[in-house]
Amino acid sequence: MTVPITEKELAAAAGWPIVHAARKLRDTGKVLRVSYDPPLLKGAVRMGSRTYGAGLRLGSELENLCSCFDSWSEGKICVHSVAAALALMQQSEPSQLESGAVDPPTTATLPVQ
Ligand SMILES: [Zn+2]
Repeated sequence: MTVPITEKELAAAAGWPIVHAARKLRDTGKVLRVSYDPPLLKGAVRMGSRTYGAGLRLGSELENLCSCFDSWSEGKICVHSVAAALALMQQSEPSQLESGAVDPPTTATLPVQ
């Protein structure tokens, strides 16, 4: 399945600091589940002692559907929804392990801020 959004587009909508924090959530297993039923991306993301029902409507305009304060109070694209989207992208990428590639993880290519 192809995810119709890129990390760059997420960064443009949410800002790189959010994308970095979201990567950390994903890489530490905080994205409990994610699903994509076009155009709705949904996920459950654990942060601190709470689990957020994160989600994005992927379309010409990105809409945040997360249950957190940042989302409903200010309409921001929050770290939870970005983490869910990143997890979905990772799932949809061809596995490098199976192809025998030994390249380092792509996190090494992130711009330093
Ligand atoms: Zn959120």
